[in-house]
Amino acid sequence: MADKRDYYEVLGIAKGASDDEIKSAYRKKAKKYHPDLNPGDKEAEEKFKEVNEAYEILSDKEKRARYDQFGFAGVDPNYGAGQGAGGFGGGFGGFGGSVDLGDIFGDLFGGGFGGFGGGSRANPNAPRKGNNVRVSVGISFMEAVHGCKKTITINRQDTCPECGGSGAARGTTPETCPDCRGTGRVTIQQRTPFGVIQSQQPCSRCGGKGKIVKTPCNHCRGTGRVNTKKTLEVNIPAGIDDDQQLALRGMGDGGVNGGPNGDLIVIVTVRPDPMFQRDGYDVYITVPITFSQAVMGAEVVVPTVDGKVQYPVPEGTQSGTTFRLRGKGVPYVGGKGRGDQYVKVNVEIPKKLTRAQRDALKAFEDTLKDDNYEQRKGFFKKLKDMFKD
Ligand SMILES: [Zn+2]
Ligand SMILES: [Zn+2]
Repeated sequence: MADKRDYYEVLGIAKGASDDEIKSAYRKKAKKYHPDLNPGDKEAEEKFKEVNEAYEILSDKEKRARYDQFGFAGVDPNYGAGQGAGGFGGGFGGFGGSVDLGDIFGDLFGGGFGGFGGGSRANPNAPRKGNNVRVSVGISFMEAVHGCKKTITINRQDTCPECGGSGAARGTTPETCPDCRGTGRVTIQQRTPFGVIQSQQPCSRCGGKGKIVKTPCNHCRGTGRVNTKKTLEVNIPAGIDDDQQLALRGMGDGGVNGGPNGDLIVIVTVRPDPMFQRDGYDVYITVPITFSQAVMGAEVVVPTVDGKVQYPVPEGTQSGTTFRLRGKGVPYVGGKGRGDQYVKVNVEIPKKLTRAQRDALKAFEDTLKDDNYEQRKGFFKKLKDMFKD
């Protein structure tokens, strides 16, 4: 446990990684170390466990936030027992497993102040990537198949163009906070039932920013950021499926202290189609045919995502038979090739026959022999065998 690796490091991703990046990194690593693919390899087995644990935490919003703020102690109540929770000034050793350290830290620090996560990395003046902005867009089934352009409007926090994000009025610069010497944090000591605990709190004088703005910028009122409404056109690639996401790099919130912008995450919702169903890149459709078409065979009109085609249904087709139209499915996103279309034919039994129609059908039925029916022949032979003697 002492040499537990950082979860982000385990998955080989950056701290600000998006949910999609986490998922894809996990899939790659899990595949690489999967026990089925590495039989008898103890190291791979350990790695596989490590990867799964990292994914369990980072894929859960709440657990990830706790981990970001408190490290392993935030997500594992047993972590740190007997070894002191490093970085918090010690004194936590030997709590035993039943205490939720996350809760204790939450109480001590008043919970939820930004900038503490990452321990020593929490320099308030370090460049930070801007937040990702999420927006969802609804498209039709056909738009998803063929791709489309959508105009979307987003609200994001841009770096103030007036002060360049410093928050200080033109001609002035922010000063380093004398209380925390620019670190944004102050160390305090607290007497608790467990002894004296040394902990760090955000500096109240500068609000954890490490800098003090004497004359705030008029444009952003000293915040360094401005709310911006932005309308953009998004290219949605052919083949995208329901609930998939597109990441537009650098289109999210402005970076902090010169860090890169966040991303714009477009979540695509695809409305269902009354005729076509989709599974991956394959398309499914059910086409009703008549009794005579099934008996004699016929050219049947079949809708595809590219328009109508004629399909020769062969003579003697049973109801429920499925035919495959190769390459008539959905195009692969960003690749060459397409899925297939599966056409299921249902023989529709006619209703409300007239007297004459019934007579004609009866006359036809009387001409049929056992040989005309494959299934019935087999069925009745089995029946006979069953009740021999
Ligand atoms: Zn400004
Ligand atoms: Zn300060």
